[in-house]
Amino acid sequence: MSTVRLESIRKVYGEEVAVDGVDLEIRDGETLGIVGPSGCGKTTTLRTIAGFETPTDGRVTFDGTDVTHVPPEKRNVGLVFQSYALFETKTVRKNVTFGLKMRDVSKTERRKRADELLELLDIADLADRNPATLSGGQQQRVGLARALAIEPHVLLLDEPMTGLDAELKLRLRDEIGSLLDELDVTALYVTHDQEEAMAMCDRIAVLNDGRVEQVGTAESIYRQPTNEFVATFVGTSNLLTGVARDDRIDLGFTELADDMRTTGEVTVAARPEDFSLGGPVDATVLETTYLGQRKDLQVELPDGSTITMQVDGDADYRAGDVVGVEIDPENVQIFPTGIRERTT
Ligand code: ATP
Repeated sequence: MSTVRLESIRKVYGEEVAVDGVDLEIRDGETLGIVGPSGCGKTTTLRTIAGFETPTDGRVTFDGTDVTHVPPEKRNVGLVFQSYALFETKTVRKNVTFGLKMRDVSKTERRKRADELLELLDIADLADRNPATLSGGQQQRVGLARALAIEPHVLLLDEPMTGLDAELKLRLRDEIGSLLDELDVTALYVTHDQEEAMAMCDRIAVLNDGRVEQVGTAESIYRQPTNEFVATFVGTSNLLTGVARDDRIDLGFTELADDMRTTGEVTVAARPEDFSLGGPVDATVLETTYLGQRKDLQVELPDGSTITMQVDGDADYRAGDVVGVEIDPENVQIFPTGIRERTT
């Protein structure tokens, strides 16, 4: 078992509230992603688990044991950062065995474990090289092997892909994602890149302003965001204003059925794929963006609002075309207007 829990964590620096009452569980063997805008408290949360920060309030437990005041070196956490922080004067193998040496693991055992990990990460041929002679992607793999070597209670990864080129990022995220699955490591993955989190993590926590807005699988966060913030931060959402009356929502250009019988002003969050062509609403194409398999169209609705919708990549639409638009009510989310602004 290797479970990490954060209970009502608050971290205040002077006037600045970095983390404002976070409850989170990283379940045994899962990779939990934390995403959120810059400054929302991702790194502070990670550093609290590592023990580099003592929370102002709240508790951190590992398998039920309170570690809130246990120093970092006694927590057995593995860390992987954006800056690889490898020992430049040691070989790759020595970098990987370093933590084991500190823990008095025998030389034979150290070497065996290091070589297994280097093999697993496909960098066995680099064992005797110096980190300075390696590419960014190779250094990142060495960093990961070093963090995994100590068989950490929890592996903490803070923006590990930043600085790598786009193609390598895609490759590494698949490889590292499968590796973490395979090894059943309990891991926390901090990134500002929501697509990376969706691809790599079993569950994702969306942070905003020091608080958790939603925790769930990538699919549940994308399909059932609990508020406007999550709907717009994760993926693209068109926010439409509507007025709910009885069992209908009047969007101005069309109406939606509303089983929830909301009343008053509502915000309807609709994904680009929730709109289709061939419908009754006349809209004008403002801009098209070709993205290979799909094309994004910015279109202006009769009420003057603009939405982004998705069509096939080979569909031939140009700015100025008038198209018929339809909204598919199946997956749209309805929120009372104004949730995005916090009042507390
Ligand atoms: P980014 O994506 O930009 O790295 P983040 O989500 O990781 O951001 P944190 O680094 O956790 O955010 O910072 C949260 C807030 O706490 C920010 O407003 C930051 O300025 C503040 N903060 C973090 N560390 C300190 C510190 N040592 N002293 C004062 N304020 C701090």
